[in-house]
Amino acid sequence: MRMKKVDIIGGGIAGLALAARLDPGTFEVTVYEQRPELPAVGTTLAMWPRAQRALSDIGILGAVRSHGSIITAGALRDPSGQALLAIEGEGLVGIARPELLRLLDTAVPASVGRVVRRVDDIPGDAWLTVGADGVNSIVRRNHWGRRSAARPTPFLAVRGVVPSAPASGDVGEYWGRGEIFGLAPAVGGTNWYASFRSDLGPESVDVAEALESTRGRYANYSEAVGEVLKQATPGNSLAQRIWTTPPMTRYARENVVLAGDACHAMTPNLGRGACEALIDAVTLGTLLNELPREEALATYNRKRVLRTQQLRIVSSLMGNVALAEGMQPLRDGLLKRIGKRVARASAQG
Ligand SMILES: Cc1cc2nc3c(=O)[nH]c(=O)nc-3n(C[C@H](O)[C@H](O)[C@H](O)COP(=O)(O)OP(=O)(O)OC[C@H]3O[C@@H](n4cnc5c(N)ncnc54)[C@H](O)[C@@H]3O)c2cc1C
Repeated sequence: MRMKKVDIIGGGIAGLALAARLDPGTFEVTVYEQRPELPAVGTTLAMWPRAQRALSDIGILGAVRSHGSIITAGALRDPSGQALLAIEGEGLVGIARPELLRLLDTAVPASVGRVVRRVDDIPGDAWLTVGADGVNSIVRRNHWGRRSAARPTPFLAVRGVVPSAPASGDVGEYWGRGEIFGLAPAVGGTNWYASFRSDLGPESVDVAEALESTRGRYANYSEAVGEVLKQATPGNSLAQRIWTTPPMTRYARENVVLAGDACHAMTPNLGRGACEALIDAVTLGTLLNELPREEALATYNRKRVLRTQQLRIVSSLMGNVALAEGMQPLRDGLLKRIGKRVARASAQG
């Protein structure tokens, strides 16, 4: 049987997961990745149950669990650290992005070709071209046109891992006026992130400048937040403006298909982007292994477009609530009341 040539543009989470899932007896796969090496710095990604199932299908769930940490509980807090709403974990697993990429990389069969270069002209001779090239996807731009270009949000994301572990009473997401700050235990210390409106960027952001602006912004927050920011350095932190993709109604056209942030880059407020990238890749790989191309791509559209576009919208709404400025007292009052009701209901069993 003649092998079917699949070119995957982008060797991030979606690209590597797809390369790991495609049947090496049917497909001649090449991954094009511009990064010469896996990244060394990266914060923790929360893996939700459906993403864990995708990791299990690729055969690396056990390894992800043993290299990650189980996330059990946290809270939404006001800037002083007072809990507004307690949140129970739902069996989430936290894994550092570099570690996840490394484990996905080890699951890719040796027969998969690797090309280290930035793709500007998409090779045109493939049975299937996959755009797994992130929010600024060149595959999306070439096949879906200029109107599909990514858009910068006004929000900056600054994040990192610092060496000391957090006290359990400090874990959670702190919601202030137009800004959020999160901290949680991670392998190697505390994973933290901050998000707020900023003029820095939108393309590249200087990490030292972003950290300085973050320290100023959160100067009146709890001691735990102050301690994390004291330990943050440009070497253990990352900073970027948050970009999202516009609405899309189809992820596949003839012999081109998109996966992950290339088709549904969302604000990080639900912590779902990487999870959905994994689920896209495993769904697409499984369908291609089992069905003729046209049917596989039509089913992929049906299974993935509505769900991920909904998440894109909900994530952005959630971001607007979390980063609210004028409505902040009303929002916090509501959260407190919900928190009290939840506590009363749990006490009554
Ligand atoms: C601050 C922040 C926090 C987040 N937290 C979470 C979380 O807790 N949980 C979660 O599930 N998600 C989270 N996300 C979202 C998650 O990071 C993304 O959804 C995920 O990385 C998407 O994976 P991907 O493989 O689709 O794209 P990417 O990770 O962007 O990978 C794309 C790859 O393609 C390569 N590439 C791009 N263009 C080219 C080209 N022209 N030629 C060759 N190679 C190319 C890039 O180098 C990259 O390796 C967060 C995002 C942000 C910004």
